[in-house]
Amino acid sequence: MTAVLTSTRFVKLKAETPAKTKLLKKMGKAIADFSMIEDGDKVMVCLSGGKDSYTLLDLLLDVRRRAPVHFDILAVNLDQKQPDFPEHVLPEYLKELGVEYRIVEEDTYSIVTAHIPEGKTYCSLCSRLRRGILYTTAVEEKCTKIALGHHADDIIATFLMNLFYVGQLKAMPPILRSDDGRNTIIRPLAYVHEKEIVEYAEEQKFPIIPCNLCGSQPNMKRARVKRLVSELAKETPYIRATMMTALSQVTASHLLDPELYDFQNFEPAIKAIPPGHGSVEKELDDIFDHAESTYKPDLMGVAGLS
Ligand code: SF4
Repeated sequence: MTAVLTSTRFVKLKAETPAKTKLLKKMGKAIADFSMIEDGDKVMVCLSGGKDSYTLLDLLLDVRRRAPVHFDILAVNLDQKQPDFPEHVLPEYLKELGVEYRIVEEDTYSIVTAHIPEGKTYCSLCSRLRRGILYTTAVEEKCTKIALGHHADDIIATFLMNLFYVGQLKAMPPILRSDDGRNTIIRPLAYVHEKEIVEYAEEQKFPIIPCNLCGSQPNMKRARVKRLVSELAKETPYIRATMMTALSQVTASHLLDPELYDFQNFEPAIKAIPPGHGSVEKELDDIFDHAESTYKPDLMGVAGLS
């Protein structure tokens, strides 16, 4: 059996700063919980020059140093030829870090601006083009995993967008094999909060490249759900941790998807309902709001958020 990284390896971990220690523990837990990295992997880290991808690379390099399994890292930046993109910043940073890297130059900016009217959101076409190029690069470089810098707040926002605007109950997978089976995507920052990344990026003084060079309008729906979560967090400070915990504790019998739960054979299926999930009394209490929720998520628990 191939060796994988386990979370126990990170329990006693101590890094240079408390912030780094905390983030490494969260990354270690995510890598272990979802079996993201195996012995012999070559991980392509997608580096955009934003705070998320700098944090991803920085922490993964540390994990590699400490890990009992061997894996390689290749940092890849896609230079999309956006106006005023500072081409020297990433090569200088990566050379100083001593990490293997590749800059891929493809003028997706011209394609996007030729097809999408000015003042609209370019992101959907831009992302499709970028995804194709990065997949191909990973295959050329014989990378077994593609690491992306999405974090817990991206997962929550995607979940709400799918819930409100698409009609699907799904978020972002922490690990995903592409349809053609050529690539596996991993999201090692899945348990890390955006606020923590902002603070860490400031602490580490990463040479951030602004993300508005393309001139795209922001995605209004994504902005709306992020605003909603921020508003709710004012009343319920741990709302993000609650949502992340909810995503890891799904009760299929309490949803409406016959593909997930066998409602046609209800009698045999009811025996499979886990303890605590089959109380009719509690269900009625919840419905009639007689029971005040006393649940407070373990902030460093399932979701690993605080
Ligand atoms: S913000 Fe710009 S670079 Fe980023 S995905 Fe959207 S269009 Fe592409």
